[in-house]
Amino acid sequence: MTDRFTAFVIEDANGKPKGGFKELSVADLPDHEVLVEIAFSALNYKDGLAVSGKGRIARKLPMVAGIDLAGTVVESRAPDWKPGDRVVVNGWGLSETQWGAYGRFQRVKPEWLTRLPDVFTPEQAMAIGTAGYTASLCVDALEDRGVIQPGGGEVLVTGAAGGVGSVAIALLAARGYPVTASTGRPEQADYLKGLGATGIVERASLLEKGAPLQKERWAGAVDSVGGITLVNALSQTVYGGAVAACGLAGSTDLPTTVLPFILRGVALLGIDSVMAPAARRERAWARLARDLDSGKLAAMTTVEPMSKLPELADAILAGKTRGRVVIDVN
Ligand code: NDP
Repeated sequence: MTDRFTAFVIEDANGKPKGGFKELSVADLPDHEVLVEIAFSALNYKDGLAVSGKGRIARKLPMVAGIDLAGTVVESRAPDWKPGDRVVVNGWGLSETQWGAYGRFQRVKPEWLTRLPDVFTPEQAMAIGTAGYTASLCVDALEDRGVIQPGGGEVLVTGAAGGVGSVAIALLAARGYPVTASTGRPEQADYLKGLGATGIVERASLLEKGAPLQKERWAGAVDSVGGITLVNALSQTVYGGAVAACGLAGSTDLPTTVLPFILRGVALLGIDSVMAPAARRERAWARLARDLDSGKLAAMTTVEPMSKLPELADAILAGKTRGRVVIDVN
């Protein structure tokens, strides 16, 4: 086993973060307890921001980018993990404060590891990745709130053809919830229906600010877009319904009123995947193992070599990637 490998590293270039490929060795890695040989990583929106330098994701430099990894434990000083264990890491500050996944090896803290469910290969785990695991957290939150029912009111999914959106549709449909997909790409209607969407709405219809209280339409919503889209989702949610907000693909703003909250009892459920506690992660992964159809997962996935990261980063920020992109780091 050679211990030298190519990694995608963000470095300081005259005060600005700049990414590029660099040769590292295992000896360069941080001194955490568990050494993982990474089989695959993934491309998430946040990875797009980090790789392109358009977002200051890394809070210290140099930084190995990549927020998601799936692979096998090679060495461990932690009692709970042994060589050969199949593991996943989603978030926990990877690519922000901790060296991340774009390279063949990484050392991580034992508490960041989730056991890879038997039903998934490492490639499938990264086809799910942070985006898919976050979609699962969103569905957990809506179910916990008790607002969605099989065969009940419609559930809106915004940013539908993206990573979070695609997995959310498949998970909701698997439980029998009617799903309406909001997309700016009408040409993806067949793809979205194939994942289980029962209705499609044009992204533009949610981008224009409407009245603070609009016709009640959604029992619940999974929103990865933010901004006016989230404002409209709240304004169109039924009495007592809820919106799980996890993203900012459109905007970080939330120019709304309190009316949906105080006159309709609508709940805004904030979803964070990065620091979510282990029990919540295990539950989200258990849902994915139980409900995510492998054919649908394959339909939403493309696998790309790490060498294409710079162009893929621009594509995801432009909303041009569909579903999920797995990154082959070897
Ligand atoms: P993707 O780029 O794969 O999906 C985002 C989708 O949003 C696009 O495919 C597009 O869908 C839609 N979109 C893009 N730009 C705009 C725009 N300007 N206005 C309206 N819609 C737009 O990203 P991910 O699915 O990986 O992530 C989605 C969001 O969720 C990101 O903001 C990401 O940072 C966030 N996120 C948050 C997490 C958390 O822990 N809270 C974890 C994971 C992701 P379409 O073409 O169908 O309209």
